Amino acid sequence: MSSGTLYDKVWDLHRVADLRGGATQLFVGLHLIHEVTSPQAFAALEEKRLKVFCPNQTVATVDHIVPTTSQNRPFADPLAEEMLCTLERNCAKHGINLFGLGSGSQGIVHVIAPELGLTQPGMTITCGDSHTSTHGAFGAIAFGIGTSQVRDVLASQSLAMNKLKVRRLWFDGQLSQGVYAKDLILHVIRTLGVKGGVGYAYEFAGPSIDTLSMEERMTICNMAIEGGARCGYINPDSITFDYLKGRRNAPKDEQWDRAIRWWQSLSSEATAVFDDEVRFNSTQIEPIVTWGITPSQGIGVNETIPLTESLLASERQIAEEAFSYMNLKPGMAICGLAVDVCFIGSCTNGRISDLKAAAEIAKGNQVANGVKAFVVPGSEQVAKEAKEVGLDTIFRSAGFEWREPGCSMCLAMNPDKLEGRQISASSSNRNFKGRQGSVNGRTLLMSPAMVAAAAITGEVTDVRKMLPNVE
Ligand code: SF4
Repeated sequence: MSSGTLYDKVWDLHRVADLRGGATQLFVGLHLIHEVTSPQAFAALEEKRLKVFCPNQTVATVDHIVPTTSQNRPFADPLAEEMLCTLERNCAKHGINLFGLGSGSQGIVHVIAPELGLTQPGMTITCGDSHTSTHGAFGAIAFGIGTSQVRDVLASQSLAMNKLKVRRLWFDGQLSQGVYAKDLILHVIRTLGVKGGVGYAYEFAGPSIDTLSMEERMTICNMAIEGGARCGYINPDSITFDYLKGRRNAPKDEQWDRAIRWWQSLSSEATAVFDDEVRFNSTQIEPIVTWGITPSQGIGVNETIPLTESLLASERQIAEEAFSYMNLKPGMAICGLAVDVCFIGSCTNGRISDLKAAAEIAKGNQVANGVKAFVVPGSEQVAKEAKEVGLDTIFRSAGFEWREPGCSMCLAMNPDKLEGRQISASSSNRNFKGRQGSVNGRTLLMSPAMVAAAAITGEVTDVRKMLPNVE
């Protein structure tokens, strides 16, 4: 019997077969691909003389390896150039739509699919990238998959998956001014841990979620994976429908009304049964900054780095490792910690509302001496919208660099890298050792507005002190 959750309904609608061993063969509605995890998958198809099964339900872009200073071809890095050429060849050969550089729609895969209206409620979506969970913001069930699974989906438009349990994360109250969706999800991960969601899909719900924009919802679902959940989702509502209406691939005319009725029917029932539930009070969430080497090692900006003895026994070893790697001491305040690099971008926080929030802080201020600060729009569309409202000018006037769209220093598979032991204030999603391109570089995760505040002051700063009318 169905539990009445959106997850169960979407799962059941996409079930192709029950496989031996308990897994399900699940039909994939939309397969997103990019230059990093697709080449081996295409090569495996070639080897077996297979075609892409549903090229019309496969969409490609280039994001991880693109430089953000100049995107003129050929790229200065021959390896990056070759990766893009390979993607172009594979897409041309198999009839896959590639949103390439200069198309007006290129960008980070998890930014462009919603922008284009490709991501819709009730879909199953896969991509060879962990942060595919982003698309759950629309009430889709979206999984990051590995290269061998990319091959499977290319060949069969389906995937063998084990069904997850569903935990509802319920948020009462509203976020305070100066506290953002990024803080909400960092608070969740801090509370439940990076492994807290293992075996679960996270349903985010409650009054705080209901009032969030689609972009804020995407930030939350994007980082569900950092809390161990294989996917995260939010039930579709009028905010979802308003976002989708009129987008290039959204249903049109009479199809639109039918789609809305269909999407509404997919939401979790009021009587839905969840495997687990955790409740949060959003009014108590503060701006969060990570101090360690996992996204769960975060604290409120005005808190101190935890003492080892205050941690659970299971958390102490990784904390010791973090103190040593980050060169930070237990009991230290995080506020006031000097930063070298400030990065605003990524599939977590490279959307137009993120840039607007950061620009509000940057406007009329100057980046601190010695700090390198740069803004990387998540897509060509975000860059266009930002320029239309003058955000590029605001950032440039404040001393930020304004770059071309791409993943940039989220993963640093491109020329944007930390150097040596630099400390980065970053709006991205992972603070793992070496994540931003230097083997001993250090990452502090925070909201884009907090990154902008750090850029201006040169140190970790409570952004609320820089916002008008915040007590
Ligand atoms: S921005 Fe970062 S997390 Fe997102 S797709 Fe690019 S590399 Fe992956």
